[in-house]
Amino acid sequence: NPTQMADWEIADHFEKNMLKISEIGKKLRLTEDELLPFGHYMGKIDYQSVLERHKNTKNGKYITVTSITPTPLGEGKSTTTIGLLQGLGKRGKKVAAAIRQPSGGPTMGTKGSAAGGGLSQCIPLTQYSLGFTGDINAVTNAHNLAMTALTARMQHERNYDDETLLRLSKKSRLNIDPKRINIGFVIDFCCQSLRNIIIGLGGAKDGFTMESHFDISVASEIMGILAICNDLKDMRERMGKIIVAYDKYGKPVTTRDLQVDGAMTAWLVDAIKPNIIQSLEGQPVFVHAGPFANISVGQNSIIADKVSLKLNDYHITESGFGADIGYEKMWNLKCHYSKLAPDAVVIVATVRALKSHGGAPEFVAGRPMPEEYKHENIEYVEKGTQNLLHHINIVKQSGIKPVVCINAFVADTQAEIAKIKELCEKDGVRVAVSNHWAEGGNGALELADAVIDACEDKNSFTPLYQWDMPITDRIHTIAKNVYGAGAVEIAPAAKEKIAEFEKQYDTKELGLCMVKTSLSLSDNPKLKGVPKDWTLKIRDVRYYGGAGFVVPVSGDISLMPGTGSNPAFTKIDVNTETGKVYGIF
Ligand code: ADP
Repeated sequence: NPTQMADWEIADHFEKNMLKISEIGKKLRLTEDELLPFGHYMGKIDYQSVLERHKNTKNGKYITVTSITPTPLGEGKSTTTIGLLQGLGKRGKKVAAAIRQPSGGPTMGTKGSAAGGGLSQCIPLTQYSLGFTGDINAVTNAHNLAMTALTARMQHERNYDDETLLRLSKKSRLNIDPKRINIGFVIDFCCQSLRNIIIGLGGAKDGFTMESHFDISVASEIMGILAICNDLKDMRERMGKIIVAYDKYGKPVTTRDLQVDGAMTAWLVDAIKPNIIQSLEGQPVFVHAGPFANISVGQNSIIADKVSLKLNDYHITESGFGADIGYEKMWNLKCHYSKLAPDAVVIVATVRALKSHGGAPEFVAGRPMPEEYKHENIEYVEKGTQNLLHHINIVKQSGIKPVVCINAFVADTQAEIAKIKELCEKDGVRVAVSNHWAEGGNGALELADAVIDACEDKNSFTPLYQWDMPITDRIHTIAKNVYGAGAVEIAPAAKEKIAEFEKQYDTKELGLCMVKTSLSLSDNPKLKGVPKDWTLKIRDVRYYGGAGFVVPVSGDISLMPGTGSNPAFTKIDVNTETGKVYGIF
């Protein structure tokens, strides 16, 4: 009974009968050489061999799971992704799911497990949660190698005259402007103390003294590249175009100029291969690339989706956070690069989040749930459903009629659920109440059937904008049509940067990757429901040359989240007799 067990205890119970990864490989009909086992229960896949062998195979149905504006606790997108996988499995379908690798930041900070929950999780939980097959470490190393190359170069350019520099490094002066450094270091924890730092203190051989910063690894441009690249050649080309700084004349200095792009790619040759593990009910789960659609692409990789679509009749992927940022990036960024189109979109809603959008007091991760969430309150639910209707409208704009999944919690009442159903059905969408958290695949049959039906709908999936649209117009289009903003205000320095990018690059080649809070449709995390007459404030715009993204940064959001006063790591420990980790709740 999942109400009496923590997620890690449930995972531990199921791990006793986990299938060997070779069995999962057999379920996917991989050849022996295509499965690259990583211990007994995890593996990587030789994606090139699979894609070559299946080049004439028709793709399976492509389903994505997104949500309403979530609370800080999450509304169960991962849980629903795995629940739907298990539900389709119970219906006898050839099915797999793909999720992103969890980041150590939230795992140790607010979230604990990001493997789903209750009877809808993927296992082995500890390995999946803590480092997994090393992909995020590889991204971290590749990124920090670029920073190492940059700072060493700056020291050498300061210490040597032109002739000595050329003789020693075989490269003439790059004239890097220390006031225009484009990147910092990365680490995969939420460490606010590293947001602003000074590096290079000491003597002439101790580096170059300047201000710098750390971002969280999963927000690295390299994670973006891992998510959207189609193969190693594509990744290698992108790796050389990362702009690390500008020179004294305003010209970009790239990883290629630092001659570090080859070595950076070398760190990633295994990371580009998608990983597989399994659900509690033994279906294949692909895990690849990183989370955080609020500050990054935040989707699992295109490569994992392409492989799974060849091997399965149904493939489920997760477009994390709400449809405003998770699905928007799937719709206008990921699908642009992959040339794939979803057949069905699921929006996860919970009574608790709808109550918070309807006026119930905000709840904070790590603190007790306010009373309002423990008792029936139709008024809050009815008011809060406006947020769900807004997300339904976002998905409809992409040409797809979504399926709403009400992820059922024990505290929900029949009347609250009936109210949500009534309002959604008035809007003409399918609604399924799903008990996958409490019952696994058997609890997700209603959802599975609704999704099977939805996959047969004719849809007219179309991007929100064409890529020849100027950057500012694209920002306005997303702000108004997706976020529901009344106006957009772009800071003067950001406007200048946009004008510069449009002069220097072919904007048709540039994707737009917005940075916005996930906790509100607006750029202010405190505004719940459907905020009206608000202005989206863009305070900065970055350019990720390798990923090919223009990245407008809205509100106060930081690329290095912080750790609060009651972090998840206080609950995690190890049984020193067995070596088992416990407490990843
Ligand atoms: P998201 O992917 O939206 O961030 P998760 O799937 O990670 O959310 O779920 C967040 C937390 O909520 C997990 O601890 C999970 O066990 C719990 N949870 C999800 N669905 C339910 C449910 N129906 N009942 C109780 N707890 C749930």
